Amino acid sequence: MNTFQEIKDIIDESNYIIVTAHVNPDGDAIGAGLGLALALKKLGKKVRFVLQDLNPQTTNFLEGIEVVEQFDLTEKYENDLTICVDCASEGRLGNTKLLLEGRTSINIDHHISNNSYGTYNYVIEASSTSEIIYTFLKFCGIQIDKAIGEALYTGLINDTGNFKHDNVKESTFLMAADLKKIGVDSCKIVREFLDTRSFASIKLVGRAMYEMEFDEEKKLAYYFMTKDILDEYKGRKEDTEGIVENLLSLREANVSLFLREDKVGFIKGSMRSKNHIDVNEIASVFGGGGHKKAAGFSSTLPGDEIIKIVLEKL
Ligand code: 5GP
Ligand code: MN
Repeated sequence: MNTFQEIKDIIDESNYIIVTAHVNPDGDAIGAGLGLALALKKLGKKVRFVLQDLNPQTTNFLEGIEVVEQFDLTEKYENDLTICVDCASEGRLGNTKLLLEGRTSINIDHHISNNSYGTYNYVIEASSTSEIIYTFLKFCGIQIDKAIGEALYTGLINDTGNFKHDNVKESTFLMAADLKKIGVDSCKIVREFLDTRSFASIKLVGRAMYEMEFDEEKKLAYYFMTKDILDEYKGRKEDTEGIVENLLSLREANVSLFLREDKVGFIKGSMRSKNHIDVNEIASVFGGGGHKKAAGFSSTLPGDEIIKIVLEKL
């Protein structure tokens, strides 16, 4: 693990920096990446924020979000430094892992499953990668303006469930208070990012809640959303955001599992846990990972088979 000073030195030496984050980016990947990219721009660096997948619609309100661009396999990227945020492994970068080849890279993340794949690594337990970026910008003495602050605040509420989870520490509230002081509109961010849903999303959440199942013995609340159901409402992947947390809200449930068939034969799994059960460990059975209480994976096994394996592991 490297220090903030070592990371700052590498950034100071670099002129053309590309920031990237994990596939299907969430609020923390976008918030941390955008906050960092905007801050590096202020330092006069040439910066791009390049992802395999575009940002979700729910982050379109962020100032500066237009810098997000989709990785182009035909382009020759000639940056001297690549910074990966909120991404636990090279594989999770999707096609932007090509941006690690032949150049220096920095891996800044808060996932316990992170395998330190960067040339330089800064991986600690924190509420969110956005909180790490906030602390880093403070360390560097970079002034956090409203646009940077709103990006970082979005990451913070994404990963803490708007200050609900036990990854919230004193430092998390201090960061929120500091951002509020510089004019971050926390109310607008919550409304735009958490409390605004598409028509498809409302229908899909409803469908999942209506059809969810519960295993009494293992205390698992689960739902498998087939591609047919997603297509019925012309749903996008991001429209299922929140379902796995809703499943866990069942009083008797200890763990929740949400499976989404993105393509025929290709399933994305999400897990959440309420108590001591380590879902990072269960997700790792399928080659995934994340945190103890929130983890995910991708699998080509049939949905029923995945549910059976998860029940066996519980
Ligand atoms: P979600 O269930 O919201 O997609 O993700 C929950 C947590 O697990 C996030 O921190 C996310 O980065 C991580 N995660 C989700 N899917 C995967 C995966 O396929 N592999 C790994 N290593 N982590 C994942
Ligand atoms: Mn995160």
